[in-house]
Amino acid sequence: MTATTCIRNIAWLIAWDAREGRHTYRRDVDLAFEGDRIAFVGEGYAGAAETEIDGRGLMVCPGLVNVHCHGAGQIHYKGVREDLSNPHFFGSALYDFTTRFLPDEAGHKAGLNFALGELLLSGTTSVLHIAHPVEGWLDRLAASGIRGWIGPYVSCARWRTDGPKLVFDWDEAGGRASLDRAQALIREAERHPSGRLGGVMAPAEIDTCSEEILRDSAAVARDAGWHYQVHCSESVNQVREIQERHGTTPVQWAQKIGILGPNAGLGHAIFLDHHSKIHWPTRTDLSILAETETSVAHCPTVFSRYGQTLQDFGRYRRAGITLGIGTDTLPHNMLEEMRTAIVAARIASGYAESIYPADVLEAATVGGAKMLGRDDIGRLTVGAKADLFTVDLAHPSMRPVRDPLRSLIYTAAERPVRDVFVDGRKVVADGRLTTIDMDAAAAEIEAAQARMEAAVPGLDPEGRSAVDAAPYSLPFA
Ligand SMILES: [Zn+2]
Repeated sequence: MTATTCIRNIAWLIAWDAREGRHTYRRDVDLAFEGDRIAFVGEGYAGAAETEIDGRGLMVCPGLVNVHCHGAGQIHYKGVREDLSNPHFFGSALYDFTTRFLPDEAGHKAGLNFALGELLLSGTTSVLHIAHPVEGWLDRLAASGIRGWIGPYVSCARWRTDGPKLVFDWDEAGGRASLDRAQALIREAERHPSGRLGGVMAPAEIDTCSEEILRDSAAVARDAGWHYQVHCSESVNQVREIQERHGTTPVQWAQKIGILGPNAGLGHAIFLDHHSKIHWPTRTDLSILAETETSVAHCPTVFSRYGQTLQDFGRYRRAGITLGIGTDTLPHNMLEEMRTAIVAARIASGYAESIYPADVLEAATVGGAKMLGRDDIGRLTVGAKADLFTVDLAHPSMRPVRDPLRSLIYTAAERPVRDVFVDGRKVVADGRLTTIDMDAAAAEIEAAQARMEAAVPGLDPEGRSAVDAAPYSLPFA
């Protein structure tokens, strides 16, 4: 018999209104789940329940869906990367930094555990983890308790910087091998006994994949019923590179080679033809995305640190484009990412009405679910997966309790998150992970970060130390 849990007399529930296609507040209701599925949402649950939770001091929220995360490799950059930029690359430290600071395999493994822990603690129950494969990838995802999609990188070229220039070292055969490996890994994920894993075809970047590999990746995804995501229009350099190669914007080229569509998502899609840093004469990129029903994975934090942002979230949304939210960098905190999404959109558009909490909640739940091909996650309704989290309304960060979604996004972030359930299983209990030892992961990451920094002089073309390449934020007395 399947165990039932009932959260009774929930003070504030964010429920899914299927008829209107939107989240709504409900007050003083019960939510029950049997095994991995929600069985009841409403007043007065009369069935039996093995576990009863008092909901009177809680807000219950749909689990967040993160559609773009490189967790394993990012946590090592804490205290290292946040303030780095490079004027040769229009402010982005992406190209020089990621070729000099390279966490090793052991670091990636610990980094994945730590990132998954951060995600769960901030109410994230589903994640698309895009990365170079590491040993035990699927088992680590499964053991964390999260619902996971892997996006094994497919790539034909590696970046290298030569002074102010960005150089591509091409390896078409290597790209073909990475495409074959990605298919095999995704099929393995789908067969994983946890039943919570899947995959997305993820050509790394539109400028590091050949046209053939991009087309073939898209065809494989279409044939297999998988989703597809590629970093596209993520930097000014990338736009200029595609303009030089093909005489058009990355989005227009992507359309021309047939890789856009309802199962396709673009990582970032910031520098479209209308963006103030691009000045390309057309104004069609946004409408191409809307017409082809191509989605956008929006990760505002990493770009905001470079002084860059989408122009702007509200404009994309009004154009009819599905947006999802992701954590491209550290911290892996979806609630903070949602706050940054609002702030960045308001600054970029110059007016507050461009975006509201309901819009980012939609992106961080059902928008992300759509980008992963799912209509049973990111929403609290009968029949949906029991992926949800509870928020302690008595936590000082939530008081006074007037509009708790607002307080969660603008003030509290993960601090009042109490319990997190995935597939009906409690993976965070009273703010503590039940599946991951964060202290052990942090200790391994500290050692890995030291190894990463020690290797920098051998990777930096000027032979700089890690401290010279990434100085501390204060001088030492
Ligand atoms: Zn990314």
